[in-house]
Amino acid sequence: MRVAEPICEDKAEWDLNKLREFFQESDIAAILAIPIRQCRTEDRNIWHFSKDGNYSVKTGYKIARARYDDINNAASASGGCKKLWRWIWNLPIPPKVQVFLWKCAQGILPTSQALISKGVKMEPYCKRCGEYEETAEHALRDCEWVKLFWATSPLRIRETRQDGGGTIADWMEEMMTLGSKESHSLFAMLLHAVGGACESYG
Ligand SMILES: [Zn+2]
Repeated sequence: MRVAEPICEDKAEWDLNKLREFFQESDIAAILAIPIRQCRTEDRNIWHFSKDGNYSVKTGYKIARARYDDINNAASASGGCKKLWRWIWNLPIPPKVQVFLWKCAQGILPTSQALISKGVKMEPYCKRCGEYEETAEHALRDCEWVKLFWATSPLRIRETRQDGGGTIADWMEEMMTLGSKESHSLFAMLLHAVGGACESYG
């Protein structure tokens, strides 16, 4: 899709209906925050990594080198991290839920906190309790309403288990060591349900 497609031709505004065809609500909020130029110019390819937008061998090499290092670093990630990936991909759950868990582990869910840090103007508060900043940890684990959900779920997850706080990835690693494969799958499905119900994170 080209950037010009979801822009109303006559008004220089984002076309909400077109955006809804392709993006989730949380992404749409981020897109709407991008200002559109009022004078019309033809689309052109821009090289993101140089100031003038033109490709240069020097910046190309720099990016290729950084990507190469990233891949090598990921391959030699700590044992715990690798174990977590394997655990996610081996669970007998729908791919959509696996991708959601992967996003949780990466810390890349589009929470209010994450969107605000990207410049989106919105309320930072949790949509359930309205009291705390909406981080992934709060939305999926620490909010009082979510705690109630976990405590009354078949897994009976109570505060004592979560006392250590930590990230969602830490929590997943902890869950990985407890219970059976069935309870792991149930945990994954419930985590996805909590995320999906709050802001279509899934
Ligand atoms: Zn809350």
